[in-house]
Amino acid sequence: MSHLLEVCELEQRFDVSPGFFDRLKIQDGRLRYKKSIVHAVNGVSFHIDRGEVLGLVGESGCGKSTVAKTIIKLYDPSGGRIKVNGKDITAYNYQKMVPVRKTIQVIFQDPYASLNPRLKVMDIITEPMAFIGAPISKTELREKGMALLKRVGLGEEHASRYPHQFSGGQRQRIGIARALSVEPELVIADEPVSALDVSIQAQILNLMMDLKDEFGFSYLFITHDLSVVRHISDRIGVMYLGFLVETGPTEDIFLRPKHPYTRALLSAAPSVYEKLHIDPLAITGEVPTALEIPAGCSFQSRCPFAFDRCLQERPRLVSREPGRLEACHLLDAQ
Ligand code: SF4
Repeated sequence: MSHLLEVCELEQRFDVSPGFFDRLKIQDGRLRYKKSIVHAVNGVSFHIDRGEVLGLVGESGCGKSTVAKTIIKLYDPSGGRIKVNGKDITAYNYQKMVPVRKTIQVIFQDPYASLNPRLKVMDIITEPMAFIGAPISKTELREKGMALLKRVGLGEEHASRYPHQFSGGQRQRIGIARALSVEPELVIADEPVSALDVSIQAQILNLMMDLKDEFGFSYLFITHDLSVVRHISDRIGVMYLGFLVETGPTEDIFLRPKHPYTRALLSAAPSVYEKLHIDPLAITGEVPTALEIPAGCSFQSRCPFAFDRCLQERPRLVSREPGRLEACHLLDAQ
């Protein structure tokens, strides 16, 4: 049986070159024309099965949100393949993506920016049903919208209000109701609680997990918060500089991180690390620019274990035990 979502060797590059004359450079005494390309996502592969939660973690700017936006075709991929329920959607245009949007819905980080400020809450929630759902009467549409509103913890009195009349947590509840209105099979949640107060985060996370159990959909859960990802995910994928460097079952990775970057990431989160019994790993330096990806391993400039091979050969994601994959030459030597 095919996976619900399968992403294979996904690439996303952005041309951020300045104007034509600014691109001209003198190099070795000759005039050269140089493009500036951001390598945001580099050969990322993973899958999500029905009812599963895959957490994608990594520092800000590591490409995890770009992966999400590429999957839903807000950006056309520069390379690789995206399959939904076994169908290759990589080359789908806007029109062909309409039925796919019924299968995959998104909850964004900033609920205010993602809700149309001119629409009342009932119209915001029922809009996806009216456009991409099965044909339905206005009365049914309203009844379904009202039921969803109640399910996410809001009342009938909220239906005729506008987004600016709500708090951040309430707006995220509206975003969740809107995403669920077409009964998707996969919900991509892109940092859905990072913009909320800490006291509200747990409420929204619990609501999201209750709804998953009730409706049976899957999540691609994108976050930089390790305690959140540990709480919510069945498996996690760790990203660094646009590369997926380690994947596996969540608890297994938290208890036995293998890739040096995963160890460093866990070591840098005291709330998570203190409860684990892993050797801490401190790293220094900055993440290199995605305009110039280093040769060899993307993590080589910060990795305390880097050796000759790491500077020359890009490590591939390899399975060394069932369910686990890591991209690191050091693990070949062990
Ligand atoms: Fe470090 Fe080399 Fe492994 Fe990269 S491949 S993480 S540089 S040991």
